[in-house]
Amino acid sequence: MFDKVLIANRGEIALRIVRACRELGVGSVAVYSDADATAPHAREADEAVHIGPSPSRESYLRADRLIDAARRTGAEAIHPGYGFLSERENFAREVVEAGLVFIGPPASAIAAVGSKTAARALAGTANVPVVPGTTEPLRSVHEASEAAQRLGYPVLLKASAGGGGKGMRVVRAAVELAGALEAAKREAMASFGDDAVYVEKYIAGPRHVEIQVLGDAHGTMLSLGERECSIQRRHQKMIEEAPSVAVSPELRRRMGETAVRMAKAAGYVNAGTCEFLLDANGEFYFLEMNTRLQVEHPVTELVTGLDLVQWQIRIAAGEKLPQQSAIAEPRGWAIECRITSEDAGNDFLPSTGVISFLRVPGGPGVRWDGGVGAGSEIGLHYDPLLGKLIAWGDTRDAAIARMRRALLELTIVGVETSRDFHLRVMDDAEFQRGAIDIQWLERRLPSLTAGGGMPEGEVAVAIAAALLAESERAGRLAAPPRGGTATTGGDGAWREAGLRDGLRSL
Ligand code: ADP
Repeated sequence: MFDKVLIANRGEIALRIVRACRELGVGSVAVYSDADATAPHAREADEAVHIGPSPSRESYLRADRLIDAARRTGAEAIHPGYGFLSERENFAREVVEAGLVFIGPPASAIAAVGSKTAARALAGTANVPVVPGTTEPLRSVHEASEAAQRLGYPVLLKASAGGGGKGMRVVRAAVELAGALEAAKREAMASFGDDAVYVEKYIAGPRHVEIQVLGDAHGTMLSLGERECSIQRRHQKMIEEAPSVAVSPELRRRMGETAVRMAKAAGYVNAGTCEFLLDANGEFYFLEMNTRLQVEHPVTELVTGLDLVQWQIRIAAGEKLPQQSAIAEPRGWAIECRITSEDAGNDFLPSTGVISFLRVPGGPGVRWDGGVGAGSEIGLHYDPLLGKLIAWGDTRDAAIARMRRALLELTIVGVETSRDFHLRVMDDAEFQRGAIDIQWLERRLPSLTAGGGMPEGEVAVAIAAALLAESERAGRLAAPPRGGTATTGGDGAWREAGLRDGLRSL
């Protein structure tokens, strides 16, 4: 096992990796930009190295500085987390060339499935069904028009290098094609520095169901079951769960075998995810492979009992995985809500400010993977994800009830958050029945965000929490010690203020 791992990331995922290291007895080195000088991830790791100014291209995206920081601190391996450099083939290669271990797949596997078109071509050779469409980038409007005609409208233009739903355009009729192609190319260039765009059939009303795979360097490739990620806004996931109401044990086995086949064809090692669209007839189509840890990995951890981040590190250190026969069917149900600094009542506008008060939920079956504390400044440099709230129950209904309870406990003062939006989803009858698909949220948003404002009875609590936050800031919060967390207050603070019993939080 390694003595020390450098974490080339920030926020909740950096903290998640620090925790995995600590449980394995491995030292952790955090990196931080100017904006993150007092961030929880930098304080919680055993060591922390400053790597540059706040913009990520001058800090978290600087491969040279990250590798240098690993060398200087004596870290033997680098965990990239998700986002930033995690899926860059060149970074994986440079880390290895520097004599370090990359905690992720080999550069060659990233190359094999890194672009959506390359992955689609590989899927074809591995007998993995893909959404009908092209496997080569489009060279002209004429070519796009011919392909769209063949597929039949509506079609979807997608950036080959795409991610995060960027560079995608739904085209419903031939007249829209030229303009949409132009726009998709422009967005792809701006987001990925690559304007390659291809076209797929636009599937109406499918679910997004993805399979977690985990492979070691000794030839074992496991499928760890599915995650349902259909609750999306603008093609971005907001709520995920495991298992999926739409997946039977038989379908789980078939999708799992398909994902394993795909991963093996790519020469894959470590944790990866095959994303599929699943239609109402139980047919599934490969979308893409994500060559990294997913944001939503905790729901798989809670229903399989496996620690995926620890396994990533153990696999990178050469350990062997158990056999597929040792992997049980998912136990119970897990749901994750992404808590972001966005104002759901105002078209999810990013909200900035200083978190003056944070109360983290607890109790049975509740997990908070957070990246912020009281005192954290939320700016616009990075992703708006503040933390992930994950609830487990022995049934889906129990998990929803628990999530609802945990969301009510979660209190964040200082920035707008998506908390109330998540509460409304948990209360939605269609969601509770599991009657969801990838367009469900867009259809439902008007009613989920209508009314806005604060539920009755919560205004007084908001004012009290704000006052409490002020006194926290003036007193106990001053200069939290290095190595501690900036999160204080919580239940104790609420009790002190006589606010806890019988009151709902913000
Ligand atoms: P990205 O890498 O940008 O996230 P994906 O290929 O993973 O792009 O697609 C993101 C989301 O867009 C999917 O989860 C799904 O909701 C939707 N989507 C992608 N391809 C199609 C398609 N062919 N038809 C309908 N929806 C699609």
